[in-house]
Amino acid sequence: MHIFAVANQKGGVGKTTTTVNLAAALALQGQRTLLVDLDPQGNATMGCGVDKRTLAHSVYHVLLGLSELAATRVASPAATFPARFDVLPANRDLAGAEVEMVSLDRRETRLKAALGEHRSDYDFVLIDCPPSLSLLTLNGLCAAHGVIIPMQCEYYALEGLSDLVNTIKKVHANLNRELRIIGLLRVMFDPRSTLSRQVSDQLEQHFGDKVFSTLVPRNVRLAEAPSYGLPGVVFDRTAKGAQAYLAFAAEMVERVRNWKETL
Ligand code: ADP
Ligand code: MG
Repeated sequence: MHIFAVANQKGGVGKTTTTVNLAAALALQGQRTLLVDLDPQGNATMGCGVDKRTLAHSVYHVLLGLSELAATRVASPAATFPARFDVLPANRDLAGAEVEMVSLDRRETRLKAALGEHRSDYDFVLIDCPPSLSLLTLNGLCAAHGVIIPMQCEYYALEGLSDLVNTIKKVHANLNRELRIIGLLRVMFDPRSTLSRQVSDQLEQHFGDKVFSTLVPRNVRLAEAPSYGLPGVVFDRTAKGAQAYLAFAAEMVERVRNWKETL
């Protein structure tokens, strides 16, 4: 089981879109996949077709030890066979977890502990982190083997990246020796924009093979899909954005395969 956190403390940079579409695309490729929504906004939950307003239990209950993961996860109704995957959903309850977890034991590793009991259930676990470097994100980073960082190719893209990288380094040093940055994913890319191309080139120069070769273009079909409760790759598989996420899933599977060989 490979666990990846999709993180970037900025909002609106494509974390949720990436998590939902990668989960569905991996499922389409036959990978047993679980999506964990760690954002109280519950956008990933809704984007998978799960109604966040009617949940009896959510990731909040799992983090606080009030419910088992097995009794809390749901199958994404959006993704019928063959694109079946599970969702550990979230809603506004999760906003309270931050404060309530402070007094608990091992508060950074509660998600890790919950996932540990299900090591043989999945090939991939993808964690959609909130737009902050909070205790919730910390739980995501402590549970993960790697971090996927979606980046918009715009002028301020690199600003704040060092805060995230420093947080990842600290987690690596103190809490999770397994954690590493798997890669930077360029999203909402506009090939006609000079700035987009410049920033993309800059990322390649600075981060080399840490930049995924897949480029996700700006594509309105990806933005429309959540309002139908569907991942973009299920909503319109032929759209350019969906095609990119399908390619990204293949790239991830390949990376994980090479990774195993080097271990
Ligand atoms: P985050 O989770 O980082 O806040 P989202 O994935 O919710 O970011 O994306 C922010 C907004 O941008 C959403 O409205 C989403 O539909 C839209 N979006 C994300 N990726 C793309 C894309 N490649 N093309 C067009 N719109 C996108
Ligand atoms: Mg989000």
